[in-house]
Amino acid sequence: MVSAQTTALPDLLGRLKLTAMRDRLDGLLDEAARQEMTLPEALALLCEAEVAHREERRIQMGMGIAKFPYARTLEGFDFAAQPSLDPKHLRDLAACRWVANGDTLLIQGPPGVGKSHLAVALGREAVRQGYSVLFTSAVALITGLMRGQAEGKLEERLTRYAKPKLLIIDEFGYLPFETQAAHLFFALVSRRYERGSMLVTSNRSVSEWGTVLNDQVVATAILDRLLHHSHVLTIRGDSYRLREKRRSGLLKRGSADASSDVV
Ligand code: ADP
Ligand code: MG
Repeated sequence: MVSAQTTALPDLLGRLKLTAMRDRLDGLLDEAARQEMTLPEALALLCEAEVAHREERRIQMGMGIAKFPYARTLEGFDFAAQPSLDPKHLRDLAACRWVANGDTLLIQGPPGVGKSHLAVALGREAVRQGYSVLFTSAVALITGLMRGQAEGKLEERLTRYAKPKLLIIDEFGYLPFETQAAHLFFALVSRRYERGSMLVTSNRSVSEWGTVLNDQVVATAILDRLLHHSHVLTIRGDSYRLREKRRSGLLKRGSADASSDVV
């Protein structure tokens, strides 16, 4: 009886979709026996394996859905090279309370100072903590919305960008918006307002948004919503890439080869 049940166990676990438990069953049971666990302790060990596996899978899926262009972490950020940022403040932002509250985070500064790096790092942290995240460049976002409008699918596109708890818009302001694009961006910001968080990186300060959006009235309406509950990180200083090149002797101080600094 006992042995029949034991043989059937992997099959039963499979039918219950407890696949991590099933796949690691022998090892986990050996471990439980070695540690002379009680039955509840052994069950807890098996459940922990399943929970850890599911958590890992959830994070992997969330990372895929978020479409980060590359992997960056807060641990990989060299704070010593960036004295305009307070590591404590960043660690606090990594706790993602601002995401839970639906706040906006603006990261502004010149090219190469780590805006996208921090956007990706904070976005990955949000995924890890269970929030849905989508990363897009401002150009891809606007192109997507304009195409949606041209194809009669604007509603679908707006929903796609409005749904994630955190929408990251990278490189806002590198290219100015056409009037129609500014209106579509306003439609999106209104849709997300007080529902989801936005993280926007930009090489332009807030005072220049009117120029970027080619429309002071729309810019004011957008900023009014975005800045209602917001945090602003302003990064100053030299491009990290140029700095690294200088340090390795590839570039002399003063010969700031801006064209090689891809933004
Ligand atoms: P930005 O978005 O502000 O133009 P990026 O985030 O793209 O700059 O940074 C350019 C490159 O330099 C990236 O590969 C990034 O990981 C790296 N980088 C920038 N600042 C730092 C830093 N303080 N520590 C480590 N890497 C950095
Ligand atoms: Mg960038």
